[in-house]
Amino acid sequence: MYIPTIGLEIHAELKTKTKMFCSCKNDPDEKKPNTNVCPVCLGHPGTLPVINKSAVELMIKIGLALRGKITSHSQFDRKSYFYPDLPKGYQISQYEHPIVQEGFLRDVRITRVHLEEDAGRLVHSGAASYGLQAASLVDFNRAGLPLMELVTEPDIHNADEAVSFAKSLQEILRYLDASDANMEKGQMRIEANVSIAKEETKLGTKVEVKNINSFKAVHDAIRYEIERQSGLLDEGKKIIQETRGWDDVKNTTVSQRAKEEANDYRYFPDPDLPPLDLSVFEIKKIKGELPELPDEKRYRFIEEYALSKDLIEILVSEREFADYFEEAASELRGRTTKPDYRLLANYITSDLRGLINAENGMLKKTPPEHLAHLVFLIQEGKLTSRLAKDLLAKMSETGDDPENLMKSEGMEALSDEGELRKIIEEVIIKNEKSAADYKKGKQNALQFLIGQVMAKTKGKAEPGLTKTILEKLLKEKFLN
Ligand code: ADP
Ligand code: ZN
Ligand code: MG
Repeated sequence: MYIPTIGLEIHAELKTKTKMFCSCKNDPDEKKPNTNVCPVCLGHPGTLPVINKSAVELMIKIGLALRGKITSHSQFDRKSYFYPDLPKGYQISQYEHPIVQEGFLRDVRITRVHLEEDAGRLVHSGAASYGLQAASLVDFNRAGLPLMELVTEPDIHNADEAVSFAKSLQEILRYLDASDANMEKGQMRIEANVSIAKEETKLGTKVEVKNINSFKAVHDAIRYEIERQSGLLDEGKKIIQETRGWDDVKNTTVSQRAKEEANDYRYFPDPDLPPLDLSVFEIKKIKGELPELPDEKRYRFIEEYALSKDLIEILVSEREFADYFEEAASELRGRTTKPDYRLLANYITSDLRGLINAENGMLKKTPPEHLAHLVFLIQEGKLTSRLAKDLLAKMSETGDDPENLMKSEGMEALSDEGELRKIIEEVIIKNEKSAADYKKGKQNALQFLIGQVMAKTKGKAEPGLTKTILEKLLKEKFLN
């Protein structure tokens, strides 16, 4: 048995209007290659970079949210290497004086978070449209986008913890509106350093895994590396320090380069940029303006709404859901002293979520007060939950208020005792056998009869009242 150790390096593109050192647009949806480019981000000689203030502000927010220290004097450095997507021959990054030092998330110590610029993107297809048989094309739209890099201490010990750390970070970045952090779009990229050791006090030789493009890949790549390394040690072999890439198709890691071939980046302070004096930022004010963070919200939701863990997870995972829920909850409190928060949360996390996925913009057509109203109608027995589903779909289509829609669509619950009683009597007569079965103690028979009443009333019969009347009639019938 070996003890695995993992340290993560996570990049995320920051959500600013413009690039890190020039005024080109930061537009992740730009499809046309080389549209958002200028002499600065194309690395033309004689151009000068200018620091993007809002990128620095976002870094301060991220640092504070991760309970890190904001350095008062930071610095940008040149990291030299050659690659076709890096037109200057160096990347502007931070080495000795990152903006954020130390920090904490999910029991994992954060070493640092620094600010740098992204590289361009190589495209290895599409040569034919240029009349070529094979070629690599380069798109510089991404070159110079603001990028944060977070490095953790080697505090993680299995694949699940690594995934949960990365998901937590993604949530925080989204709550702060600092990054969309979409892994499929490459807005968040993860590298995992993995080692195994026999003793707890000593770390083994680490292997760095790159090219990890999804949370599943984070998990699988770490699991794979732990097994691969364990196999080597079992055979008495040594682990070599190297960089490996994750192959999503084969589900394996593949050696890319050994330590001896590692780049020497020759970091030095970028002479084109002044030291970054962070004292000009009002850190206290920024701290005061941070939104409630996901974990704080989780605790508060347990206290205030007594929801199950699963419901809270879904609501909190997206700030939009959580905000929507709270607005609807407050509307519901305005209508009743006994708001059923669980029912409300259920509609948001199941039906409404399904509708949002099916068609964009549903949340706008169904404002929180409409959903609260719908839940109130169910609580009052005016609407059956069976019809509520259809009603909600109609509400999302039309944007109408549930009470009006319910009336115009004839969806009001049937709760008139006399009328319901007549229907139930008919159902019993038609289903003598089930009625007899019920008398013999078969609970299923009761469910069947309720189902028949629902079918006859097209789901409008109020369930509670139906059950009461049905039980009463069955008893009377068999007493005779
Ligand atoms: P390098 O100099 O190779 O970049 P660092 O010490 O800067 O290495 O660490 C890079 C990342 O690797 C960090 O996330 C760190 O926690 C992690 N790391 C360092 N040593 C180990 C190890 N033995 N096992 C697993 N992860 C490690
Ligand atoms: Zn530019
Ligand atoms: Mg390092």
